[in-house]
Amino acid sequence: MPRPICASISIPALRHNLSAVRRHLDQAAQAAGGESASIWAVIKANAYGHGIERAVAGFSAAQGLAMLDLDEAVRCREAGWGGPILLLEGFFNPSDLEIVDRYHLTTTVHDDAQLDMIEAAHLTRRLDIQLKLNSGMNRLGYAPAAYAAAYARAEKLHQRGVLGSIIKMTHFATADGPQGITEAMAIFARATEGLAGGVSVCNSAATLRFPEIAVSRDGTPQWVRPGVCLYGATPFPDATAASYGLRAAMTLTSEIIGVQSVSAGGTVGYGATFRADRRMRVGVVACGYADGYPRHAPTGTPITVAGVPTRVVGRVSMDMITVDLDPVPNAGIGAPVVLWGEGGPSVDEVAQAAGTLGYELMCALAPRVRVQTLSVNKP
Ligand SMILES: *Cc1c(COP(=O)(O)O)cnc(C)c1O
Repeated sequence: MPRPICASISIPALRHNLSAVRRHLDQAAQAAGGESASIWAVIKANAYGHGIERAVAGFSAAQGLAMLDLDEAVRCREAGWGGPILLLEGFFNPSDLEIVDRYHLTTTVHDDAQLDMIEAAHLTRRLDIQLKLNSGMNRLGYAPAAYAAAYARAEKLHQRGVLGSIIKMTHFATADGPQGITEAMAIFARATEGLAGGVSVCNSAATLRFPEIAVSRDGTPQWVRPGVCLYGATPFPDATAASYGLRAAMTLTSEIIGVQSVSAGGTVGYGATFRADRRMRVGVVACGYADGYPRHAPTGTPITVAGVPTRVVGRVSMDMITVDLDPVPNAGIGAPVVLWGEGGPSVDEVAQAAGTLGYELMCALAPRVRVQTLSVNKP
């Protein structure tokens, strides 16, 4: 028997979340009397830990798939994805362009160095690009003052038959917070004024919170780039994924593999950081930070044992965590445990307790964890 820890990835949940986002965009489009945006389903980082091939299956209704790594893009093609594929950071060196060309990938262009490489390349077909503006995040992208010149250069390459479509792109730093996107959108509008072509601006937070900005009003193609919400986790510090009708796609489960009866005053785990104030039963769960469970999850982090919500006690160690069994007096060895996901706390609740984000926990699922694919909904 393998260790009992297992991550179940639900294809129906991925599908459900994509249609929830689709509906959200359609409603905004209907309200504004425009056309609904196309969706790049973001599947970077092994589809946020869910697996590229599962994401290809779950997001078959998306208009495009977006990621960073060339080998993930190739895996999408090999899994049968014939639609658009976007490289969110673009390509890194001239030899990447051969693969971009061969597998018909769309690339982000955020710097003249990339346009130089495109000019020097021998492409067999027109290359579609998303030309990225730095609208204030100061990560990737052209400065607003440099954008029109970059666009003009791209347009020349289009006229020469080198480039295909040129989509205007930016990425928001504060779509999830009180600042919102007003300032970034104003910068984007100014920098791209009068420049033709589609628009690609919204991550999950902006897609869920400001779907109206992704409505196509005058035939201009609009693209959104949701990631985390498609996996059933929230991009917001103050709104749950469930409140948007999203479902956990990843459920991490394990079992109780040991039980201790701890007397009052006894301590639990490394560093003896938890001290029992009364006699209590403590369960040992086969799951630790080497499985991707956050080491910083403190005493009190939510966890579910045999269907009953309880708490982690003491330090998370490499292979095990310890939990309070007092709320579940009947739970012994073999009792089922949900670390996060369906039937347990949300990944966001665990992340919040550990001072991080659901994003990080899903991406950090360790390779040693067995993964099971759920192709149909549980009855
Ligand atoms: C990761 C990423 C996204 C998706 O972000 P979420 O917050 O997961 O929705 C969108 N656009 C770019 C450029 C990204 O790198």
